[in-house]
Amino acid sequence: MSTDPIDRLLAQNKTWVASATAKDPQFFERLAHGQTPEYLFIGCSDSRVPANALTGTGPGEMFVHRNIANQFHLHDLNSLAVVQYAVDVLDVSSIIVVGHYGCGGVKAANGLHSYGLVDHWLGEIRDLGERYQALLGTGEEERHHRLVELSVLQQVVNLSLCPVLRTAWKKGRRPTLAGLVYDVADGALHKLVSGLSSVEQAQAVMPDPKAKVLPKLFKD
Ligand SMILES: [Zn+2]
Repeated sequence: MSTDPIDRLLAQNKTWVASATAKDPQFFERLAHGQTPEYLFIGCSDSRVPANALTGTGPGEMFVHRNIANQFHLHDLNSLAVVQYAVDVLDVSSIIVVGHYGCGGVKAANGLHSYGLVDHWLGEIRDLGERYQALLGTGEEERHHRLVELSVLQQVVNLSLCPVLRTAWKKGRRPTLAGLVYDVADGALHKLVSGLSSVEQAQAVMPDPKAKVLPKLFKD
């Protein structure tokens, strides 16, 4: 019996290849010709948020970028390169930011503990928490949920400001932007916003920090 933890993955890979080929003998042959994914998924690195599994999509259907707390920052070369490739080369129809309840990154940004380098990465969520402080609610879970949702909306706004998207939209091209939240406690995916294709539309989805009550962000 092997003690290398990698061997378990290789064994499971063999099973997966056999099962996929049994169902569809041309499966890998088709994928080898290239990819034409419909979506770019920007999600959290959290192991409980598997992009394909939770959306019921398979290989070839979704271009994926994941980082801690599903952030899209305009100074992050990694995210920018992914978005540029997805828009200019793959011509995806939608870019979807997917946040999730129970996100350790959002909790870390909103807490008193210091975690080192990652605190810099999470700075924008910390700012959001401070800006919307009075509107997040009273219970710990409620405050966490609202901040997860607000952070998704903020990333959608950040995406709308990305020169790659502004140029595409100016030419009348896609993609549209969407923001979703995934609940790790029951597996459900919820829509916050979708179909956005301008800076103005994206900025309009951010609630007013001076409002008396934060609007319920879910649309369904
Ligand atoms: Zn997370």
